[in-house]
Amino acid sequence: MILVVGGAGYIGSHLVKELVEKEKVIVLDNLSTGHREAVDSRAIFVEGDLGDEEDLQMIFSSYPIKAVMHFAAFSLVGESVIDPLKYYQNNVASTITLLNVMMRNNVKNFIFSSTAATYGIPNVDVIDEKTVTAPINPYGHSKLMIEQILGDFSKAYGLHYVVLRYFNAAGAHESAKIGESHDPETHLIPIILQQLLGQRDQISVFGTDYDTADGTCIRDYIHVTDLASAHILALESLLNEEKSAEVYNLGNGLGYSVKEVIETCEKVTGVEANVVMADRRAGDPARLVASSEKIFTELGWKAERNLEQIIADAWKWHQKQQY
Ligand code: UDP
Repeated sequence: MILVVGGAGYIGSHLVKELVEKEKVIVLDNLSTGHREAVDSRAIFVEGDLGDEEDLQMIFSSYPIKAVMHFAAFSLVGESVIDPLKYYQNNVASTITLLNVMMRNNVKNFIFSSTAATYGIPNVDVIDEKTVTAPINPYGHSKLMIEQILGDFSKAYGLHYVVLRYFNAAGAHESAKIGESHDPETHLIPIILQQLLGQRDQISVFGTDYDTADGTCIRDYIHVTDLASAHILALESLLNEEKSAEVYNLGNGLGYSVKEVIETCEKVTGVEANVVMADRRAGDPARLVASSEKIFTELGWKAERNLEQIIADAWKWHQKQQY
């Protein structure tokens, strides 16, 4: 059985939908940002907190857990600057509690959701896993701290882990039954689509004077279903004892500017956007684009879905969003 912590959240729920086809799954989620409806009915659901040793021990005592996948983190850069304690408490302290209970119960396979924010403002056009990590906000720090802790636990306690550094997760399940739903929503693609649906008056482009071709920020958007499939491969590599301490980027290798994303949304949906130019948002690097060569070479993974597909699936979801 696989424990998915944060399996009611956006990325976790998409992973669970794929994983239940192959493994027995138990989800632990405190529903602080996740949605109970997003959890596939074939998974066992426990409402509880990863920082609560009793909740965790109950699960490890009751079920034969062979690996843990950890998605339960706060992930908003701006919020992390205003309230770093929230980020260090949950993303770091509670994760240490989880790791502690895992070690005590001799569960030694771990998949960790990390982020492009660990790279800070990289001085390369395409980021690979050897690019220096130098986060510029508490969110990025909190994720990199756990990566460092995993390295030490691996050497000292024989923990086997894979770290997956996501770039910009987007899109929705092809069934349109699950998708992205944050409150408040801060991410570019859902904000654009909500505006196209008339749920917002306008889209603000945060910064038009960046050192990029059209002056707006460039990001690497990756379909959430492609992210899910990378987790399944990473899990198999751990369970087959092929990997013990690895870090992989997960992106498309293609960068799109904010303006290009808006144009692509207009093209896919056939609806014209109402766009206003705005000031830069604090903490945004001009360009974040991944090389995912390493995971392709080692695990045979690559992103299968392009930006049009991401937007088409997200559009289906937002048109009849169920939660
Ligand atoms: N962005 C924007 N307007 C918005 C939301 C986001 O211009 O209403 C920009 C943001 O500044 C960044 C890009 O879109 O350059 C992607 O932002 P998002 O919050 O989706 O993801 P992040 O890259 O911060 O993880």
